[in-house]
Amino acid sequence: MENWESYVRKVVPYVPGEQPQAERMIKLNTNENPYPPAPGVQRALAGFNPDTLRLYPEPTCKVLVDAIASYYGLGSDQVFVGVGSDDVLAMIFLTFFNSGKPVFFPDITYSFYDVWADMLRIPYETKALDDAFEIRVEDYYGENGGVIFPNPNAPTGILMPLDKIEDIIAHNRDVIVVVDEAYIDFGGVSALPLIEKYDNLLIVQTFSKSRSMAGMRIGYAMGNAKLIRYINDVKYSFNSYTMNRTALALGVEAIRDRAYFEETRKKIIETREWTKKELRALGFTFGDSMSNFIFASHERVPATELFEALRREHIYVRHFTKERINNYLRISIGTREEMETFIRFLKEYLKEA
Ligand SMILES: *Cc1c(COP(=O)(O)O)cnc(C)c1O
Repeated sequence: MENWESYVRKVVPYVPGEQPQAERMIKLNTNENPYPPAPGVQRALAGFNPDTLRLYPEPTCKVLVDAIASYYGLGSDQVFVGVGSDDVLAMIFLTFFNSGKPVFFPDITYSFYDVWADMLRIPYETKALDDAFEIRVEDYYGENGGVIFPNPNAPTGILMPLDKIEDIIAHNRDVIVVVDEAYIDFGGVSALPLIEKYDNLLIVQTFSKSRSMAGMRIGYAMGNAKLIRYINDVKYSFNSYTMNRTALALGVEAIRDRAYFEETRKKIIETREWTKKELRALGFTFGDSMSNFIFASHERVPATELFEALRREHIYVRHFTKERINNYLRISIGTREEMETFIRFLKEYLKEA
């Protein structure tokens, strides 16, 4: 091995879900929204003046920060925006998890947390979910360098009630607690109001799921002004121009249209509940998902077999090889028509399998 190789920052990268390029497929593998972005987004994109791309974007992202702040009734100094919540979360790890003490998160959770921690040389400890895949709050009482978990959790879809979240925050006043609410709009109650009570709390959300904008890459964090200022200091020390001009313009349109947001998320929730009923009848078991996916296991047929069979039909779902969850499939909620096709195939397949 040449000497320079010993000084490489060697990392085991996060593996995103597959983005197959087939013409006709049913894509239920990366929790995207099956509906297009709000009409205002489409109009703004059509009217976008490419000449403005000569110029750098406005570095404070004021238009988008203001729009998000006004949507939630916050001050603009309480909102940070980034290139998807992945970027926001990475900035948060870099900014706040520097005590040298281990950061706590669940053993089964968003598989990017340990990747950021490893990359940034942040020690961490995972805390096992219980047999029902629920977080045990007592696991988060010990001394630590910070706490992060999604609510609802991914890939289980299971929602933690607000009193338990508050219990974790209240037991961790000396560190930053991050609640990753990527899926909160699909039936959960946000912990956002708690930022007024706890100065160590950050809420992270994204435009990728409930606002149909995964391709645009917009995420945001909300917390008290001091926390937001610290994240911004790190951001400006890393890359001042994170949000491009289209993302700023289209993001404003996406957050503005409350009616369209309500309509599409309601459709997804209804389709999810229909899909649960059908899957149950087919012999699947799963926790009560409050997200835009269902994490299900079949009583008889192994997940890998179903995964491959679905794939041959160009129906894509997600399978994780990780211990404890390797007999589960994570099925994103598509349109009602897509889910009907999916269920119809399973019915036929399970008859013969
Ligand atoms: C999808 C997801 C994210 C990241 O989404 P972005 O597209 O980067 O905004 C973050 N956390 C969880 C738990 C997710 O599932």
